[in-house]
Amino acid sequence: MSGTGAVTEPDGGFSLPAEKESAELETRHDADATEVDSTDADATPPHDPELEARRRAALARIRTFGDPALRTTARDVERFDETLLEEVHRMGHLMVDALGVGLAATQLGLIHRVLTYRAGPDAPIVVVVNPKLEYASEEQEIAEEGCLSLPGIAIDVERPIHVRVRARNELGANMLVEASGLEARVIQHEMDHLDGVLIIDRATKEQRKEALRILREGPSDWSASEDEPVEATRA
Ligand code: ZN
Repeated sequence: MSGTGAVTEPDGGFSLPAEKESAELETRHDADATEVDSTDADATPPHDPELEARRRAALARIRTFGDPALRTTARDVERFDETLLEEVHRMGHLMVDALGVGLAATQLGLIHRVLTYRAGPDAPIVVVVNPKLEYASEEQEIAEEGCLSLPGIAIDVERPIHVRVRARNELGANMLVEASGLEARVIQHEMDHLDGVLIIDRATKEQRKEALRILREGPSDWSASEDEPVEATRA
């Protein structure tokens, strides 16, 4: 457990945008565009050609802005079977390969309430199934977040610093996750995904406007952003 995270009730305190966003926006960006997970990038910059190839291959599997799956409310998992084990196994691998700190099933087009995360580059992968937010601290903090599904975007998101989540693991056993800091932030980011909520929905009006512009037109310089040290956590 680490850091300084934060959350809000997945369905409280903010609202989904009413406007249609998929219509005029591109469905997918080139996977090779920008995604650098800062947390991991710090520890393992993707300059190793093999790592870089794996990262790009993983990113190509992750749905990006405009894909309806990202706006879908995922359903609880009811069967804890071999299929689920394969699914979480794949998610864990993709998350690591993409240098992400978290991944929600909806980002792969799977509408199950499943998320994976790791609290740091060397931390074990945690699988969380059917998460229910049981507690979120009143104390909040703002930190920059990136998203594997929103290439090139970083948003300042205010979230509760501490959360407690009841869930199942991939075998169906009950689990209780008490997290703070980055870990709490990533969990909340992924739980948002399971409700079809993206970080742009939590942005200020100005940041949201700029983010939508970047998603529409691409960053002013893709290649520059590739090497830029990004503070945000991609999840
Ligand atoms: Zn995300």
